[in-house]
Amino acid sequence: MHELALTQNLMETLAASARQQGISRINLVHLVVGRMSGALPGALEFCFSALKRGDLLGGARLEIEEREIQAQCQACGKSFIVEDYCFLCPACSAGEVKIVSGRELYIDYYDGE
Ligand SMILES: [Zn+2]
Repeated sequence: MHELALTQNLMETLAASARQQGISRINLVHLVVGRMSGALPGALEFCFSALKRGDLLGGARLEIEEREIQAQCQACGKSFIVEDYCFLCPACSAGEVKIVSGRELYIDYYDGE
């Protein structure tokens, strides 16, 4: 996948944000990763560890919160968690479902000084 590029982007975002807020060292980064985001948490962790260096990110710990895929049936309106990529409504078996969440990938918050 594209976790390397993603991690580089995240780090650039963090660096820019930290500069704005006068933060010189980041201790913790909390990332939200949806199961449909296309990024693998293990690979993100690996890339983060491999790339982090310097004063700002060298000591940062990456914390990943995985989000389930949530969908809503367009036929009966039921909301449900999609498991094993089975996009069928558990109530009425309709296949027309809307993905409500699970595609997200963003920095929820970070902690630094
Ligand atoms: Zn339904």
